[in-house]
Amino acid sequence: MPRREYKIVVLGSGGVGKSALTVQYCCGTFVEKYDPTIEDFYRKDTEIDNTPICLEILDTAGTEQFVSMRDLYIQNGQGFLIVYSIANYHSLRDASTLKDTILNIKHVDEVPIVLAGNKKDLEDQREASFQEGKELSKQWGCPFFETSAKQEIGIQDIFTALVREMERIPIQSYGRHRRRGKKSKCTIL
Ligand code: GDP
Ligand code: MG
Repeated sequence: MPRREYKIVVLGSGGVGKSALTVQYCCGTFVEKYDPTIEDFYRKDTEIDNTPICLEILDTAGTEQFVSMRDLYIQNGQGFLIVYSIANYHSLRDASTLKDTILNIKHVDEVPIVLAGNKKDLEDQREASFQEGKELSKQWGCPFFETSAKQEIGIQDIFTALVREMERIPIQSYGRHRRRGKKSKCTIL
């Protein structure tokens, strides 16, 4: 059976731990210092619910020179991991607009999303309560986890939940070929 392939995009404010979560999941290590301007793809072959899966994960850095670049990778993404830091209230507020941004760009009503409140280990610096994250995820109708890339908490959970969301929501509603009848393939510039 061929592996199912899914394209995941990791979004959120700078410094919340997008790279740390991605690298922890894909490579099993915690990076203390990761260049905040690096935007890169990672591949992870894994098995979820007894199905072999290949994930292509784009760790974004918000450094696009043109908004159209961001739109392009959101259009191509099939599942979105939206990250904020529990130690930075502003990052939760920034995250709260991202679902609408994605829906507008993709012209769909529903999209596979998982919300992650990262840096759970920094309890003494907490600015956003568990309840506030939970509320946002309820509003969005998506799974929510608090995570720690540093202490390896919830990492498997977020990616597993995202794959399940991608399997639950029909691909036509978020796939890249949403203009039915159009024969030519979308190409990446
Ligand atoms: P990005 O800009 O969203 O990609 O954030 P990074 O992954 O580069 O992380 C920003 C900083 O936060 C780095 O110094 C990381 O080591 C740190 N960091 C990331 N995740 C965690 C975490 O779960 N706990 C703690 N304590 N620090 C973290
Ligand atoms: Mg980064």
